[in-house]
Amino acid sequence: MQVKRIYNFNPGPAVLPESVLQEIQSEFMSFKGTGMSITEISHRSKAFEDVLNDAIVRIKRLLKLDDRFHVLFLQGGASLQFSMIPMNLLADGQTADYINTGTWATKAIKEAKILGKKVHVAASSEDRNFAYIPKQFQFSQDAAYVHITSNNTIKGTQWSSFPNTGNIPMISDMSSDIMSRPFNASSFGCIYAGAQKNMGPAGVCIVILREDMLKRVPTNLPSMLKYTTHTENNSLYNTPPCFSIYTVYLVMKWLEETIGGLEKMEELNQKKAGLLYDFMEKGDFYRSTADKDSRSLMNVTFRLPNEELEKKFVAEAKKNDLDGLKGHRSVGGCRASIYNAMPLAGVETLVSFMESFQKQNR
Ligand SMILES: *Cc1c(COP(=O)(O)O)cnc(C)c1O
Repeated sequence: MQVKRIYNFNPGPAVLPESVLQEIQSEFMSFKGTGMSITEISHRSKAFEDVLNDAIVRIKRLLKLDDRFHVLFLQGGASLQFSMIPMNLLADGQTADYINTGTWATKAIKEAKILGKKVHVAASSEDRNFAYIPKQFQFSQDAAYVHITSNNTIKGTQWSSFPNTGNIPMISDMSSDIMSRPFNASSFGCIYAGAQKNMGPAGVCIVILREDMLKRVPTNLPSMLKYTTHTENNSLYNTPPCFSIYTVYLVMKWLEETIGGLEKMEELNQKKAGLLYDFMEKGDFYRSTADKDSRSLMNVTFRLPNEELEKKFVAEAKKNDLDGLKGHRSVGGCRASIYNAMPLAGVETLVSFMESFQKQNR
């Protein structure tokens, strides 16, 4: 049966590769000949452990990570990492540097402070409503780490290159752009990402930790909140979100085998974002909200001449099978989230819709 699919520009949960959805469907009733669904089998079965381990191998291969790195699948989303990072990696009395580039960075800072930790904001773009990525930083002398948010899902900005922090380990929330481009992942002490933007469904957060960071983990933390509990048990200390991990595995397989790796992925992502930004620049009807040198390849945020037209734009787009274009409730406007799995044809369709909407509403 032919199922009707539309173009999904939602920020997260977000579009997944159609071939992955088909693969899930085809083996959903009986996973690898077990006669049981992936949602029914034991997380301690060989069939599931193979999935988990293959997902780890693929993530490490895609990011060129060596043996020093652990890949964990945790629950509680990226939001729990805002607390787990300072709990595990920032000793009382030590200072951590945070760069504040928007809503999620602000939340990460807030959680560290709730724990009574010392936080130094080394740079912020709050003065212009987070429309840019700062270029000047004031790092503390002995910072335990520098925390950044590589892509600001809500504000539509993205780091094009990462700051040099010398010996201070860098930690990044990469929820909305992990696997969208090659980068030097080995230079990070910790990378984390909620899966539901660029890696799979909601319910699992990928945490990548460099071995040396584990020395910092204090003994007096609850087991579930301790990174070492999860590294020592290969993310199987308790029942993990099996279905989410399985889907992440399939998406990683798609990235490697269908797309051909992160270089290819980046080429395609640049092409997609370029189509949108170039089109908007040609006129003055649509206005990109982020500074040109800070624009995101993943979340394209823009305004129309007034709020009335923005509402109409989102509603008419939806009628034309282009869903999820409303900006985040905290900033308004419009946003097209064009993650890895958004096909080029989706962006081309959006641009031609924008063109005709503009003609009819000038
Ligand atoms: C969506 C998002 C989060 C929150 O993720 P949850 O998995 O819902 O906790 C954090 N950081 C960034 C950059 C995000 O895009």
